[in-house]
Amino acid sequence: MIERIRVVGAGGRAGSVVSARLAEQGLVLDADEPELVLLCVPDRAIAEVASALAPGPWIAHVSGATPLAALDPHTRRFGVHPLQSFAKTRGPEQLDGAWAAVSAESEEARSAGFWLAETLGLRPFELADRSRAAYHAGAAVASNYLVTLREAAGSLLECAGAPPEALEPLMRGVIDNGFELTGPIARGDWETVGRHLEVIREQRPALEDLYLVLAEATASIAGRTMPSNRLLQGARSGPPRVCRTTQDVRVELAGRASGPVGLVPTLGSLHEGHLSLLRAARAECETVVMSLFVNPAQFAETADLRRYPRDEARDVELAEEAGVDLVFAPSADEMYPDGFQTWVEVTELGSILEGKFRPGHFRGVATVVLKLLSIVRPARVYFGQKDAQQVEVIRRMIRDLALEVELRVLPTVRDPDGLALSSRNALLSADERNRALVLHRALATRDPDAARRVLAESNGLAVDYVEVADFEPPVLAGAVRAGSTRLIDNVPLEGDSE
Ligand code: AMP
Repeated sequence: MIERIRVVGAGGRAGSVVSARLAEQGLVLDADEPELVLLCVPDRAIAEVASALAPGPWIAHVSGATPLAALDPHTRRFGVHPLQSFAKTRGPEQLDGAWAAVSAESEEARSAGFWLAETLGLRPFELADRSRAAYHAGAAVASNYLVTLREAAGSLLECAGAPPEALEPLMRGVIDNGFELTGPIARGDWETVGRHLEVIREQRPALEDLYLVLAEATASIAGRTMPSNRLLQGARSGPPRVCRTTQDVRVELAGRASGPVGLVPTLGSLHEGHLSLLRAARAECETVVMSLFVNPAQFAETADLRRYPRDEARDVELAEEAGVDLVFAPSADEMYPDGFQTWVEVTELGSILEGKFRPGHFRGVATVVLKLLSIVRPARVYFGQKDAQQVEVIRRMIRDLALEVELRVLPTVRDPDGLALSSRNALLSADERNRALVLHRALATRDPDAARRVLAESNGLAVDYVEVADFEPPVLAGAVRAGSTRLIDNVPLEGDSE
């Protein structure tokens, strides 16, 4: 079809290979009156070289990234991009078996492009000029980033005193085996992945982000969900850092790996209810912060505040078992310094039900939660459905003040006999505990009248209220007093969570 070709840039990597193959095929190279001028020059030089050529012959380039418009003003034009990286030390055999992207704007140009590709020993396919960027990105990932991977992998072998070149047959094997995925992520062996991360952090910290991004992408190929980075470290994390001041928390969080922070606010005296929140946060967040603060502002009665159970050492131990990274246990002075006078009041939701019996309670809750959110700046904050009105107050505050935090609510955890776990249960005598069981039995009727009847027939529980509350979801909520201990509980009236 074409017999005389001039190759511009024949001394370059692609140019020399292409010229050698064309010569092998018996074409006349560097002809005075070429039928085709093939530009094998660097991408940035294509437009300049093309514009200097006299119109007439076909003009083509061998660039993957450069659009055909770079060949203006010529109209008899096309592109043939060999999808191969060339070494100067090797010859035209490098073309054998490689594919080539042919871009053309007419049938005639397409035939010329396919002819050239086939003459070079390439397997042509058509590439729309406008789709070059995606095509070229794919080519760059496959070829250039393979070099980056080889470098990263080699540097880890060096850490182990092993020869990096030992990786090469392995890398070739992966290709020869049709890119079958093997190894720890394919098996779901996260312990091994955790050990990889540990050594990378210790010896090649610059590779941590790369490893994590690749591990996540590989998990998705394997159809697996990668546990959070922190979970990958398993139980080797050690005790949580206990911070007493805002400043401490901020410094500690600033020094940690990026990724979502989860906050679990508690008054301490941890039980399985709290632990369910901590576990959820652990599974979903990179860093887990638990606050431990018996907030005086949410206790109307000083006697109740004084007798609230406290055991920080045990709480920190349980937090460690749950994988908490940081415990924020401030003093009352830290949270309410001299002159403190800024309060958050969720007016309507804060004054019904519990709010009627504990005036100021939700003002104290909303204020301290907002302050905790401001100190910790979590992506997610975790609360229990057990305190349904508290959840509703916080949800309203997050919406009203446009706070950038996701509210996560977890179901109420109960003892096998139905009693909702509560730190206050520790204050109940055996007899009071027994009587307290009626509260859940009553609410489980999911009918306020029936529930009130059950409670009225029970012995010795003083009922503060039993009411349906129009929360998200609606609940039947109740509060009773057993002796001097006040207990609250609720059952959702929609959905299947408790
Ligand atoms: P507290 O320490 O009582 O303020 O509780 C801290 C968090 O744990 C709150 O979000 C509570 O709603 C939650 N919580 C308390 N008891 C339970 C329970 N039995 N089940 C689930 N969450 C609970």
